[in-house]
Amino acid sequence: MKTTKEILNKSLEGRRLDRDEVVLLLNQREPEVVNEIFTAARTLRGRYFGNHIFAYGFVYFSTYCRNECSFCFYRKSNTEPPRYRKTTEEITALSKALADSGVHLIDLTMGEDNAFLKKPQRLIEVVDRVKTATGLPVMISPGQVSEATIDALKKAGVTWYALYQETYDRALYKKMRLKQDYDARMNIKKYARSRGLLVEEGLLTGIGDTVESRADAMMAMGDIGVSQVRTMTFVPQRGTPLEKRRTGGSVNELLNISVMRLLYPDKLIPASLDVEGLVGLKERLMAGANVITSLIPPKTGLAGVSQSELDIDDGSRSVDGVLPELEKCGLRLATRDEYQAYIDREMAVS
Ligand code: SF4
Repeated sequence: MKTTKEILNKSLEGRRLDRDEVVLLLNQREPEVVNEIFTAARTLRGRYFGNHIFAYGFVYFSTYCRNECSFCFYRKSNTEPPRYRKTTEEITALSKALADSGVHLIDLTMGEDNAFLKKPQRLIEVVDRVKTATGLPVMISPGQVSEATIDALKKAGVTWYALYQETYDRALYKKMRLKQDYDARMNIKKYARSRGLLVEEGLLTGIGDTVESRADAMMAMGDIGVSQVRTMTFVPQRGTPLEKRRTGGSVNELLNISVMRLLYPDKLIPASLDVEGLVGLKERLMAGANVITSLIPPKTGLAGVSQSELDIDDGSRSVDGVLPELEKCGLRLATRDEYQAYIDREMAVS
């Protein structure tokens, strides 16, 4: 059996790791060895991205949802979360404020809200207005949509379609994303990529996943043609079936970030503020992430997804709030041209 060092060297030489090697890395817990994995991930990040980091503004514009995902605060039957649906004017103003603060992209996210899904034109209008007001690339996370909606979003100038499978273990998926077809969800991502949108995939850890299931997912997600891969630790949510589930800290998420970096060295990997807030940013960047996501303007009534309130109203989830953390890591905020160059490069990959 190979040692961790041999596996990391293989990756640093530009050779793709196999499943057994990924499993071995994900199983490591000795701090010294885990640090070696993080170091290798940072080396690869530096090779492809230098020391610059991207920042995404997050506008969770509707918290209504038709679904009942077991892990989610915003599942339809939960009476706990704040429910709101922002108007086009509000969404545009919030996006403009984020753009002025220096983010590279506007991430427009909603629950699967029928008010938009049954009237995709409303979604298109939002995209149109936000693009005009900000001049920034737009990522849209509207849940599972039809092929016709993907075509319309592409035509409206959307750059990214984000849709997270959360697990590639079909049995676990069935328990997490109740009554949602696994293949339909996977296929719409492939369709979006085939129509020229960039695609973000995501994995959740702490929901009953195993090292093996995470390894399988990481090996397979490249088949979609992903340009961004995110992983997050499950945060138990009030009023949901998994409310009392215990989670084991963020070590699995950090190892996921590093191993994804080894497997997809030239792709974007988020450090989400939506798990531990600003406090958890440095360790995610040190594990090899290169995008800060879930930057939310303070005091605007916007919520996060996993952490609906954490660090929002005190302004910590802002570009100014994260700059000191970047500096501590020897990193800097990218320019908008550097972000556009990444998009152009990924768009050119067929
Ligand atoms: S994860 Fe998304 S689709 Fe599922 S309940 Fe939450 S908001 Fe709805």
